[in-house]
Amino acid sequence: MSSVQCNNLLQWYGKNARKLPWRETTDPYRIWISEIMLQQTQVKTVLPHYSNWFEKFPDTAALASASMDELLKSWEGLGYYRRARFIHQAARKIISEHGGTFPEAFDAIMALPGIGRSTAGAIASFSFGQPTPVLDGNVKRVLKRWHNRPAVTDKQLWAWAQDEINGSANPAGWNQAMMELGATICSSRSPNCSLCPVSHNCKAAFQPVEANAAKKIPVKHLHWQVTLHTCPTRGVWLTRRPDSGIWGRLWTPPITELKSTPDTPACHIHQLTHRKLHLYGSVADVSPAGDGQWVSNFDSIALPTGIHRLLEKHGVHYG
Ligand code: SF4
Repeated sequence: MSSVQCNNLLQWYGKNARKLPWRETTDPYRIWISEIMLQQTQVKTVLPHYSNWFEKFPDTAALASASMDELLKSWEGLGYYRRARFIHQAARKIISEHGGTFPEAFDAIMALPGIGRSTAGAIASFSFGQPTPVLDGNVKRVLKRWHNRPAVTDKQLWAWAQDEINGSANPAGWNQAMMELGATICSSRSPNCSLCPVSHNCKAAFQPVEANAAKKIPVKHLHWQVTLHTCPTRGVWLTRRPDSGIWGRLWTPPITELKSTPDTPACHIHQLTHRKLHLYGSVADVSPAGDGQWVSNFDSIALPTGIHRLLEKHGVHYG
């Protein structure tokens, strides 16, 4: 990209960028949390969680000393709970290996649990002004179109992004502008080339959208029997999910995966990115067995949103 094009991009960003709280700080702790929350979760869902988060966990030390259950409870509604577990591990690593100060070196940022190259690039550029590119899905799409190379490898995309950012006097601005361009103008299905600040430099400008942009990963359907043990005095019986897999470490009533699709409709269908969970609630007439606990207040215990909805449909509400 020429310096003129780069200036166009930065000027466009300066005039059109959405006002978002994580763009008004260079604090690496706040940038880090925003970047992790925004992975696979929409901005409008992240916004209320983001501001609440810092009331509960104002700094890395508060995060590191919190229990996993506290973190998972605060993460409730954001989905992909593995991210909360990584944040907890990373906070503890920052305390033990960096004396509580967020590391500045790119390699040290990338060595934190849950932080890949693109997230490390965002933190290093937004917080410390380093020329480290972000290569999220939006930036990849924009670069592919600029070069009109829809099937290009990630290796080449990283090389292009690094070249561009090396030639920019404002690495953080370049990253932010590219992410914003992909999120708002150069969308997957209908790029708005007439409003694009770099259309003169784009080999795919005003061309039909590439065929593979519309390709969808097939959704997998899972059918889960959710067994409800309830007691007027003790609440509902919950067990902890395994560490890995869907809803890892969250609390749910006992769940059994069904081998075939039941004849009756599901009580609740919960959509994940590439999976659809069909939840069939059944009220148990025997006492619960195995590990678990009776819970009559959900204030400090993290349940998946899909389970909240199922319980509501069965008239189970706790504090
Ligand atoms: S000109 Fe069109 S296709 Fe090219 S980057 Fe801009 S919006 Fe995307």
